[in-house]
Amino acid sequence: MAQEKCNPNEILAKKGIRATGKRILILEELIKDGALINANRLHKKLSRFASIDLVTIYRVLNLFRDHGVLRSVKEENRSELFELACQHHQLHPHFCCKECDETICLEPLNFDALKSLFPMAEGYEVDNLKVTFSGTCPTCRKNR
Ligand SMILES: [Zn+2]
Ligand SMILES: [Zn+2]
Ligand SMILES: [Zn+2]
Repeated sequence: MAQEKCNPNEILAKKGIRATGKRILILEELIKDGALINANRLHKKLSRFASIDLVTIYRVLNLFRDHGVLRSVKEENRSELFELACQHHQLHPHFCCKECDETICLEPLNFDALKSLFPMAEGYEVDNLKVTFSGTCPTCRKNR
C-alpha cells in the first residue's frame, strides 16, 4: 500500500533538493491542499501564519518544477498553476473553462491506451504529455 500522503522531507531528499524551512513549509502546504494552485493563491494562504514573500514562493515553485516535484499547468494568458507530481497525483488531462477561467483536473490517463492511439516511432521514451480540453464547465453552463 502506498502511503496516504507524501512526506516533504522524503520528497526533497529523493529529488536531491536541500531541505530549508521555507521549502518544507511550501511543500507541506501543497501536500495538504492537494489541488492546483498558483503562486498568488499560495502566498495568500501561507501569509496567514508565516512570513514569506511572493518572490520566494515563485523561486521555490520554479525549483520544485525544474526538479520534477511539481508539474506546471500553463495555459495561454493565464498564470502558471502547479500541482504535485507524486504517486498520488498521476499524470492527467485538464479542463479549462473559457468563461470562469477555472482549470479542473480530470481522471488520470491510461498511458497504454494512449500509446495505441498515438503510435510512436521506435526508440523514444515519453515521460510527459500535456492534454488540456477547453470549453464551458457545468456551473457556467447552468448560469447561462
Ligand atoms: Zn504524494
Ligand atoms: Zn466555468
Ligand atoms: Zn491536475
